Amino acid sequence: MTADGHFQVPQPTNEPVRTYVPGDSHRKSLKSRLADLTDARTEVPMQIGGEHRWGASRGDLRSPHRHELTIAEYAVGGAKDIEDAINAALAARKMWAATSYHERAAVLLRAAALLAGPWRDTVNAATMLGQSKTVHQAEIDAACETIDFWRYNAYFGDQLLSQQPYNDGTAWNRLEYRPLEGFIFAVSPFNFTSIAGNLPTAPMLMGNTVVFKPATQTLLVSHFLMELLLAAGMPPGVINMVSGNASEISDMVLSHRDLAGIHFTGSTEVFQGMWREVGQNVNRYRTYPRLIGETGGKDFVMAHASADADALRTALIRGAFEYQGQKCSAASRAYIPQSMWNAIKPDLVDLVEGIPQGDVSDFSNFMGAVIDGRAYSNHMKAIEYARSAGTAKVVAGGKGDDKVGWFIRPTVIETTDPDFKLLREELFGPILTVYPYADGKFDETLELCDRTSPYGLTGAIFATDRQAIRRASETLVNAAGNFYINDKPTGAVVGLQPFGGARASGTNDKAGSILNLIRWVSPRVIKETYAPPTNHRYPYMENDEKGAL
Ligand code: NAD
Repeated sequence: MTADGHFQVPQPTNEPVRTYVPGDSHRKSLKSRLADLTDARTEVPMQIGGEHRWGASRGDLRSPHRHELTIAEYAVGGAKDIEDAINAALAARKMWAATSYHERAAVLLRAAALLAGPWRDTVNAATMLGQSKTVHQAEIDAACETIDFWRYNAYFGDQLLSQQPYNDGTAWNRLEYRPLEGFIFAVSPFNFTSIAGNLPTAPMLMGNTVVFKPATQTLLVSHFLMELLLAAGMPPGVINMVSGNASEISDMVLSHRDLAGIHFTGSTEVFQGMWREVGQNVNRYRTYPRLIGETGGKDFVMAHASADADALRTALIRGAFEYQGQKCSAASRAYIPQSMWNAIKPDLVDLVEGIPQGDVSDFSNFMGAVIDGRAYSNHMKAIEYARSAGTAKVVAGGKGDDKVGWFIRPTVIETTDPDFKLLREELFGPILTVYPYADGKFDETLELCDRTSPYGLTGAIFATDRQAIRRASETLVNAAGNFYINDKPTGAVVGLQPFGGARASGTNDKAGSILNLIRWVSPRVIKETYAPPTNHRYPYMENDEKGAL
């Protein structure tokens, strides 16, 4: 027997961020887990229909800050594995859709509690090792943000279901929030563990089943997230994790008639390629797939003459260089009045040159390594490009060292060219380009900032003058989906600043909000009439004035 009740998901609060200060017991236990995982060479199979699966070959996963260190061996899947993953998702669909919302939400709430407790060190340590995050960056992402996604989504999904149509007394109108008809393809990037935690679980919460392809660089932590979700009671086959060649996997999945949606975060180029492929396959699908993608950014900091210089300098350092500038929201271009730039530059350069960087298991470091050799070489090329351009100079950093890990010093470039390539294109590394603008040319520079890059993800205005804030907010209305006033453009928190941008930055479906969950349901309206009419004639058809027109 099932008991009925209007269950309400508990109101979430954000997971408190642990500090890991010296002497703290959490610091000790995390360090010990980090040491275990460093030497463990963890095996990372695929997870298909609840079974571990090894493909035809295996790959080595290296630590970015110690590239000789193999931290995991992962499965490289082939066509049969991908086909099986799709079939496993389709086979689990009926069972999962028939599982009540409160039971599905309970899985996520339990997963959040496991991550907040016994799994926290494992997931943080795997993120530090695999993605070269400092302890603080791992904690705010892998632990806190993932927990927040799971708790808030469970709550928001409940609110969504309570949105019901009106009734007029003759019938009972109900809205049933069906999962999409087919399976969801979730594809996550290297830079946030929380995104790997959110992309497959948001559709899963709403009753969908999923084929999940994490970025290869995150396979160690993605493996632990899968194990954690299974431990929290997620049934086998609901999320199926595959690994291998991204474009081969994607080609197979995107040509399947039962593809019902894509939940993607990564580069603009890859998402546009997927969109094109879906377009080409559009006549094959049973239903139009939902395309949800959060992509690149060229995030700005705009300073007005009235800005607080200390706040601006701090925001530039944290916004541009935390996690080596590899946040989609990282400040990568700044517009500063010339005289203010002259005043803050010496201090900024000194502070940037002094940033401690190295192996993230040494907790005194502020920065680790960039993700891999390809990123390293792209960033070094960009720095060389700036060095050789007549319109730019490197004023801080500009050096790299790839002997032990992929280390690039935090770099500040100053340019006199308002259309300089590094002000337009996303680099995704620790490189900040500053365009000092002529004093008094604030309004013209707002227009410039708006038109310089194709993206529209995050941006910040620093000013104390209210009119300047208002003008920036108006002129830059479409330049950022997350707009900050006197704060750095990074660090959005689930539930507080729902995240996403438009233009070339994505479909702006705001991860971790009700707006995102809406995309994973296909509502059915049910009208149940109390007393159906039994005669097709309407009263107006009666005519008692015989012969009258
Ligand atoms: P990426 O596009 O290289 O990879 C993302 C995912 O797509 C990975 O799983 C990858 O294996 C897969 N992939 C790669 N080629 C593919 C193909 N041809 N077909 C299908 N899948 C393919 O991105 P990345 O380097 O992992 O992450 C960095 C990018 O992500 C940056 O552009 C950054 O701005 C963006 N990002 C955006 C947000 C946001 O919320 N807007 C958040 C994080 C990262």
